[in-house]
Amino acid sequence: MSTVKRASLTREYTFSEPTTLLNRKEKKQVSWQHEYKSSVSNFEELCDLLNIRLDQLPISLSSHNQFPLRVPKSYIQRMEKSNPNDPLLLQILPIINEQQIVKGFTKDPVGDLQSIKSTGLLQKYEGRALLLATSRCAIHCRYCFRRHFPYSEQNPRHDAWQQALNELENDTSIHEVILSGGDPLVLSDSQLKSLVKKIEAIRHIKRLRIHTRLPVVIPNRICDEMLDWITHTNLKIIVVLHINHAQEINQEFIIKIQQLAKTQCTLLNQSVLLKNINDNSTCLINLSEALFANKILPYYLHTLDKVEGAAHFDVSETRARKLMQEIANQLPGYMVPKLVKEMPGQAAKSLISY
Ligand SMILES: *Cc1c(COP(=O)(O)O)cnc(C)c1O
Ligand code: SF4
Repeated sequence: MSTVKRASLTREYTFSEPTTLLNRKEKKQVSWQHEYKSSVSNFEELCDLLNIRLDQLPISLSSHNQFPLRVPKSYIQRMEKSNPNDPLLLQILPIINEQQIVKGFTKDPVGDLQSIKSTGLLQKYEGRALLLATSRCAIHCRYCFRRHFPYSEQNPRHDAWQQALNELENDTSIHEVILSGGDPLVLSDSQLKSLVKKIEAIRHIKRLRIHTRLPVVIPNRICDEMLDWITHTNLKIIVVLHINHAQEINQEFIIKIQQLAKTQCTLLNQSVLLKNINDNSTCLINLSEALFANKILPYYLHTLDKVEGAAHFDVSETRARKLMQEIANQLPGYMVPKLVKEMPGQAAKSLISY
C-alpha cells in the first residue's frame, strides 16, 4: 500500500515562478509563434539547458530520425536540472529502447486508418467526428499513437477542409466536431476562426471539442486572438488538455488557463499512464489535485496504445487497476479519471473496471 504524503501536496501547490531560461524582458515580448518555431530539436541544446552531459542519456539517432526530438523551451524549463530521469524529459527523449521490436506493438494500434470518413475526417463513435486539422505538434511525445500515422495523406490543408465540411453537413447524426491532429492549436487563430465559422454554420453541430497539448507546452498559445474566437461562437466549447504529470503545471500555465477558464468553456484533461513517469498513486493524485485547483476536470486516463517503439512505457492492466483503486480510495469521485483503453472496432472507448 502506498501512502500519500499530504504534506508534499501543500508544497507542490504553492507554485513558485520557475527559473527562466529567457530573461524576463525577452519573455514578455515572445509570441507563441516564436516559441513554437524555436522549439529545441537537437540534443546538444537540450543537454545545455538541462545541465546534463550527452553521454548521461540513452539517446538514439535512429529513434530521432523516425520521429524527431521536438520540445518547446517553456516545457524544458519545468524539467529538473541535472536529472536524466526527469518525468517530463522521459516523455520527449528519443531513446534506444524505442528500437526494440515487441510483439503486439504495431504502427496503427487504434485502427485509425479504418475509420476515415473522408480526407482528414475520422468517425469511430456515434454523434461525434474527429477532424485532423493539422499533422503538426509543438512537442513530440514518444508514446504518441500517431507517430507512424501517414499524415501527409490525411492532412487537409486549411483550404482543403471543404470535403470534410461537406461530409459533416450531410450527416445530421453528428452533433460534435473534435478538432484533433497533430495539435489543432498549431493553426493560426485566423485559420481557426474561419474553420469554426464554417462548422458553426452547420445547424446540427452543437459542440466543438479541441484536443490539444499546446496550452500546456506553450502557455502563451492562450492569447487574445484565441480567447476572442472562443468567446464569440455559438458552439459549446470543450477543451481537452493533455497533461501527464503535476510538474507540467507551472505558474506560467496557471495564469493562462485562468484566462481560458473565464470564457466559460469546459476544461477537461486526458493523460496516458506511462511507466516511470506517472505510474504511482502519489503522482496521479498530485496530478488530479493540480488539475482541479485550476478548474480542469480529469477525464480519461488512457492505457498506452500499443504503438511500435513505445513498449517501454507500458504499464500492465493489473497494475493500472491497482493504481486506480488506490487513487479512488483517496480522492473525491470527480477527481478520479476514467481508466480507458482504445479497442479498434468498439463503439466507445472501453472502460477498464477496477
Ligand atoms: C477518442 C475519440 C473520440 C472521443 O471519444 P469520447 O469518448 O467522446 O471522448 C472521438 N473520435 C475518435 C476517433 C476518437 O478516437
Ligand atoms: S501532442 Fe498529442 S498528437 Fe502531438 S505528439 Fe504529443 S501525444 Fe501525439
